[in-house]
Amino acid sequence: MAPGGSAFKEVIESHLICSDYETGKAKSEAKSKSTFTKSSVGLNGKIGSSKNGVHDLLECPVCKNLMYPPIHQCPNGHTLCSNCKIKVHNVCPTCHHDLGNIRCLALERVAESWELPCRYQSIGCHDIFPYYTKLKHEQNCGFRPYNCPYAGSECSVMGDIPTLVSHLKDDHNVDMHDGCTFNHRYVKTNPHEVENATWMLTLFNSFGRHFCLHFEAFQLGAAPVYMAFLRFMGDENEAKKFSYSLEVGADRRKLIWQGIPRSIRDHHRKVRDSQDGLIIQRDLALCFSGGDKKELKLRITGRIMKEG
Ligand SMILES: [Zn+2]
Ligand SMILES: [Zn+2]
Ligand SMILES: [Zn+2]
Ligand SMILES: [Zn+2]
Repeated sequence: MAPGGSAFKEVIESHLICSDYETGKAKSEAKSKSTFTKSSVGLNGKIGSSKNGVHDLLECPVCKNLMYPPIHQCPNGHTLCSNCKIKVHNVCPTCHHDLGNIRCLALERVAESWELPCRYQSIGCHDIFPYYTKLKHEQNCGFRPYNCPYAGSECSVMGDIPTLVSHLKDDHNVDMHDGCTFNHRYVKTNPHEVENATWMLTLFNSFGRHFCLHFEAFQLGAAPVYMAFLRFMGDENEAKKFSYSLEVGADRRKLIWQGIPRSIRDHHRKVRDSQDGLIIQRDLALCFSGGDKKELKLRITGRIMKEG
């Protein structure tokens, strides 16, 4: 090949990791190592710095979360949230009176007039919301943390993209490759044993953004298939600014997939179920592998492109 003419960068072979998401018994090996977990971003509704009178009024004395309608009170006026009302078996935790079924409409109305910053204020969202629409916003806030995109186990780590990139490298030993082209080999000696399997994902740093290349084996209807697809580490509206292609083949036969990377907001299984990627029937994959068709040896080349 001519100097500088190398079209694809060879990347290390991906190895198989056991797929435990099907059994539901997965335990996250990275769980204990993470410092950016659900509670650390305040997913329990605590506001932290914005303590004031209204906040204290709306904080449930039992679970310390902010209360949403229906807000309950005992005959003596002690309030608590509807979840805790059930948990304390209808007995006021403050005065031990029977709680009955008294709504605290005045407090519900105070809440209605209250405005609060998004809970992701500390990580960049500066919007202020009426109390009751805040929760809805937070479910879709662009600053909300992402789930770990690693597919081999149900990992519970959450965070922003730089946090997750470090987490993938440090806790899942994922390799990162720079550049927008790649050449990746997937090898398995006993391909017929592989039903629900997912290979170690590969991380790409292209155009200053991060992408995850997934490779999975599963049963599509009656047919065993392999599937490769790319996910973008960011939101869907940004993912749309990129496209990618994957190619696999041998002996002048070739399958080509062209698509748009999916956001890691979409679970890898959702992507798999929507078949939004390069799907290779096992028989064809073994044919592409050459030899005696006893071994899977697929070479997938790919390219990530920026649109416009
Ligand atoms: Zn409560
Ligand atoms: Zn009471
Ligand atoms: Zn927000
Ligand atoms: Zn993880």
